[in-house]
Amino acid sequence: MSKELFLNNFREFISQYKRVVVVSHVNPDGDAIGSSLAFYYFLLKFGIDVKVIIPNDFPSFLSWMPGISDILIFDKNQEKGVEYLNAAELICYLDFNHPSRTGLVHNDLCHCKKTPRLLIDHHRDADFSQFAAYLSDVETSSTSELVAEVIKYHGFDKYLDDNIATCLLVGIMTDTGSFSHSIYHPETFEICGELISPTVDYQLIHSNIYNTFSENRMRLLGFCINNRMTVLNDYHAAYIYLTKEDLDAFDYQIGDTEGVVNHPLMIDNVKLSVLITERQGVIRFSFRSKGDFSVHELSKEHFNGGGHTNAAGGTLNCTIDEAVDKFLRVLPQYKEMLNK
Ligand code: 5GP
Ligand code: MN
Repeated sequence: MSKELFLNNFREFISQYKRVVVVSHVNPDGDAIGSSLAFYYFLLKFGIDVKVIIPNDFPSFLSWMPGISDILIFDKNQEKGVEYLNAAELICYLDFNHPSRTGLVHNDLCHCKKTPRLLIDHHRDADFSQFAAYLSDVETSSTSELVAEVIKYHGFDKYLDDNIATCLLVGIMTDTGSFSHSIYHPETFEICGELISPTVDYQLIHSNIYNTFSENRMRLLGFCINNRMTVLNDYHAAYIYLTKEDLDAFDYQIGDTEGVVNHPLMIDNVKLSVLITERQGVIRFSFRSKGDFSVHELSKEHFNGGGHTNAAGGTLNCTIDEAVDKFLRVLPQYKEMLNK
């Protein structure tokens, strides 16, 4: 299904459904929340009964967003979440393409597998056969930019409001690192220009997201760089690991490690950066790269994950020492590519 076909058919497609659930991925980020809420506000304008479900809580730097209190956090209210899923006539996947990315929601999503699915996403390796309609483009900055395109197609003059514009800007801003990467075409800037207005203040939105650290979060960042970062010059790589005790020592709150993995990439010759974190019973990997080294491939091959060429995540069931060991064992296979 081409973008044109999706856009052309969208009104007719969506008008078939009165009850819609929008789902986004586990550990939701600015784009997951921004795209889901913007799409939610858009569907409400068609008189649709829409619910947004996220698997677990959002980081506190998003807590000011319009509509955020309308979101159902599945691990806090599973009963209601299951009720919404069972009542849905259409389930929309926003900012992910595989149900395994929905954490606790995964099981219940499988139970209603007969419910049609709609996809709006920019991650790689989507299986389109699962979807009644899809808008998927890996060369778009963010899912929020895709949602912006959908709304623009139907007329910003009719459908854009301050809530939608704010949510879309949050998604595009966070997924591009404040417009520093993942921009593949000038339309990203053009559409943001159309979202900004006297009542939608880009600088205020930016400040709400990036200038709202707790003291603990800032000190954790310092600790990561000073005490936990290893630079592997031979591989143009760097990694940071954090144990559960480290996180406890800084009174870790959801979102506190967001962005940490980007810092080693600021070193001139570092092309690959990895954050390895001990989470409840599992190890989470966050990968970032500069240039054409694909962390999607690296994560898919060795760390049960994926994402984008320059940003990906993964998970292993092991100890933190085993996780670091695994990364160090895998790295030599990529030496040549990293030295290119
Ligand atoms: P982060 O490192 O910020 O958690 O994730 C970076 C990017 O990779 C995000 O776009 C995220 O949605 C995606 N991602 C994170 N973890 C996974 C994973 O386990 N599988 C896949 N396919 N994508 C992931
Ligand atoms: Mn995204």
